[in-house]
Amino acid sequence: SRILVTGANGFIGNHIIKLLLEKTQHQVHAVVRTPEKSLALQKVHGHSPRLTVHIVPDITAPDAFVQPAQLCHAIVHLASPFIASSSNIEEDLLIPSIRGVQAICHAADANETVKRLVYCSSFAAVFNPAPEGSSPSKVYTEEDWNPTTYDQAKNAPALIYAYQASKAFAEQEAWNLSKEQNRWDMVSLCPGVVFGPPVEGTISTVTELGQSNGIIWGLFDQETVPETKVPVWTSVASLAEANISALTTPDAGGERFLLVNGSYENQELCDLIRASNVNHTTKDRLPKGDPGHRTHELWRADGSKAAQYLSFSQPTLEETILPLKDYLLRLEADK
Ligand code: NDP
Repeated sequence: SRILVTGANGFIGNHIIKLLLEKTQHQVHAVVRTPEKSLALQKVHGHSPRLTVHIVPDITAPDAFVQPAQLCHAIVHLASPFIASSSNIEEDLLIPSIRGVQAICHAADANETVKRLVYCSSFAAVFNPAPEGSSPSKVYTEEDWNPTTYDQAKNAPALIYAYQASKAFAEQEAWNLSKEQNRWDMVSLCPGVVFGPPVEGTISTVTELGQSNGIIWGLFDQETVPETKVPVWTSVASLAEANISALTTPDAGGERFLLVNGSYENQELCDLIRASNVNHTTKDRLPKGDPGHRTHELWRADGSKAAQYLSFSQPTLEETILPLKDYLLRLEADK
């Protein structure tokens, strides 16, 4: 089969491309924004003859993905802004995320070989940022939706709220468009905060880390343990596996999945990293906080539906975080 992957050069995209090339026989068609990113992607993946890269400078153009999706059987749509700063939330976040979805659904409509869209939504599209959304008894499921309105998102006091809402608007639009026809179906995956080492060769300094791994790097050299904002995590390796499983699992069609490996808090991350270090160099760089203390009143997410339908591994937090810590220290030392 031929698979199209948008946002291919991102943190998650690179993992999906790598797994598709290593573990499947699919022909992989990737979309990036510039010729430079195309060259870099091909280099990272060893100039594989099974990887074709398409350049789409503007995902908001209605026909953006029509040609790249030609003869494709399924699509993984990842391209969406995940940014740390913005002076215009609507232009930088809301419009590209929603129009990107419209363009990918249009490409699926326009190419009759396409049978499935695996859409990478987020736990952000599920989470209610209002205080009641964080009540200790709350257990999130696939039934939950971020209730932020478009106007609230446009005028959000902090970018994180607008990002979270952008994922909900885009996912809702994808569901609406997928239900307008019957030839292709959609699977939406809603991962928590995605942790794990980036694919080797994709970044060269810690400043290029994405938002989620940036949380781990952000614990280094702090005086105190920062507050845990979104306490559910997903391993990037599991997310890549789940995406590949979602491409071909018939029963997953039309379903939404919370894809979470577990809950975490920053104190736990500090404890794990500090305890892992025999020569004490990293230990002293992480805040000690209150070792072993766990806030038992955190809300949770129920990932059981995904585990039932899709195949993906369930590593522990430790198995995910410690290799990431080693990777981050190597990256720092190499600069
Ligand atoms: P990255 O920032 O590493 O990758 C984002 C990808 O989307 C890049 O390929 C980027 O291209 C592309 N992109 C961003 N903005 C635009 C735009 N305006 N037009 C076209 N392409 C754009 O992030 P991740 O790999 O972490 O995220 C990938 C997807 O997963 C996103 O949809 C994100 O919302 C979702 N997700 C991520 C989570 C996480 O914790 N990391 C959690 C849940 C969901 P370029 O390099 O050219 O900017």
